[in-house]
Amino acid sequence: MERFDAIIIGTGQAGPSLADRLSDEGQKVAIIERGLVGGTCVNVGCVPTKALVASARVAHVARRAAEFGVEIGASVSVDMKRVKARKDEISGSSNKGLTGWLESLENATLIRGDARFEGPTTIRVGDRLLEADRIFINTGGRAFVPPIPGIEDVDAMTNVEMMALDTLPEHLVIVGGSYISLEFAQIYRRFGSRVTVVEMSERIIPREDEDVSATIREILEGEGIEFQSCSQVSKMERTDSGFVAHLTQSEGDLELSGSHLLMAVGRRPNTDDLGLDKAGVAVDPRGYITVDDQLQTSVSSIWALGDCNGQGAFTHTSYNDFEIVAANLLDNDPRRVSDRIMCYGLFTDPPLGRVGMTEQQARESGREVLIGKRLMTNVGRARERSETDGFIKILVDANSKEILGAAILGINGDEVVHLLLDIMYAKAPYTVIQRAMHIHPTVAELIPTVLGDLQPLA
Ligand SMILES: Cc1cc2nc3c(=O)[nH]c(=O)nc-3n(C[C@H](O)[C@H](O)[C@H](O)COP(=O)(O)OP(=O)(O)OC[C@H]3O[C@@H](n4cnc5c(N)ncnc54)[C@H](O)[C@@H]3O)c2cc1C
Repeated sequence: MERFDAIIIGTGQAGPSLADRLSDEGQKVAIIERGLVGGTCVNVGCVPTKALVASARVAHVARRAAEFGVEIGASVSVDMKRVKARKDEISGSSNKGLTGWLESLENATLIRGDARFEGPTTIRVGDRLLEADRIFINTGGRAFVPPIPGIEDVDAMTNVEMMALDTLPEHLVIVGGSYISLEFAQIYRRFGSRVTVVEMSERIIPREDEDVSATIREILEGEGIEFQSCSQVSKMERTDSGFVAHLTQSEGDLELSGSHLLMAVGRRPNTDDLGLDKAGVAVDPRGYITVDDQLQTSVSSIWALGDCNGQGAFTHTSYNDFEIVAANLLDNDPRRVSDRIMCYGLFTDPPLGRVGMTEQQARESGREVLIGKRLMTNVGRARERSETDGFIKILVDANSKEILGAAILGINGDEVVHLLLDIMYAKAPYTVIQRAMHIHPTVAELIPTVLGDLQPLA
């Protein structure tokens, strides 16, 4: 039995920072990883996808060069091997940097292997038995592939297999119409593939407001992406050139053939093979570890951080989990999950920046709500860049004057939305931003204008 002060399972977005902090405090830490250090974000999630988004944007802008008066000669071609090499270099250097950092920590040991609970204070990694008074679970999640008949006969990819692709799919069919799906759809369309998105609901990203879903669909259709909505995949069949997806639709069935298949219908927590029952750690019916507001599990000496606790599904929520746990355990600072304001981006081009409530949620909250909305065609910076798709929408509580939520779909929307997020954290009235002088010409300069013309939400 090897004895530690703390054991961390997983090197996702919370584990490494926690290992660093505990090591700094002089605690003896074991951090265990069965795959690539850095987990999803660094290796098969945010970092590589955003590297691909950047390559795809260059191809897109290059195709539009003549509109800006720039001649670049022959038609644009994309070298997929170089695109992948660039993506691998960016992602690989983050993985290497993180690994080196963990290995250099004074009091922490990086252990490679699959960790399982043997009891509430005991973890097995292969032949090794480790023991600690405190255990932190940061095991993340993985793509869910539903048991569609015939799917085992076709080479269905998830975000993981997509990362190995260094050729251009002739026709990429993506099942699922949510965040991960739409990013890949636009990336591969811009590289030159035919792309079809198959979505079960009537609209893509159904959790967003209808105007957000509709505008993003319009933008993507404008680039040639095809959509099959209200469609359920009932069966998959392998063919010589790829596969045929049998779609059940209300108007009848459709056979959709493709060369490459990406399944992006949701994610599952990596909790099923952890032996949580041996430790007495409770999970919800979907397998997410049940935690309290300070991320303690049903066992008081075990915490769960990141995607595996169901409190968020983003890199920033996982890192914020680390901050909450560290503050409570080491700084006598009682930070809580419920203090955070949800925010996220959809990194299509233009991106969507979202904070707080949607219009639908504001409507259902029973408050008196004010709304301000302006098209990106009103934004000088967008016109100058000839990128005027999208809009800015802000929701305000009519009585407290606090901002309830916002959606900024348009150039720099993922950055500009932080203006609103920070004022929400400050619990300051919207008039603070409305009266601020912003720099011209930026997207941010339109925010005071939008806030100066709020109307009651109908
Ligand atoms: C394609 C894609 C794009 C994304 N883009 C974004 C984005 O732009 N912005 C954003 O905020 N989020 C994005 N996300 C989500 C983001 O990647 C995750 O929310 C984030 O990585 C969560 O990290 P985590 O800390 O929960 O764990 P993870 O990063 O999933 O890491 C968990 C680690 O634990 C290890 N592990 C699991 N079980 C065990 C075990 N039993 N023993 C040892 N090790 C184990 C795994 O190997 C893994 O390395 C994206 C996700 C995907 C799939």
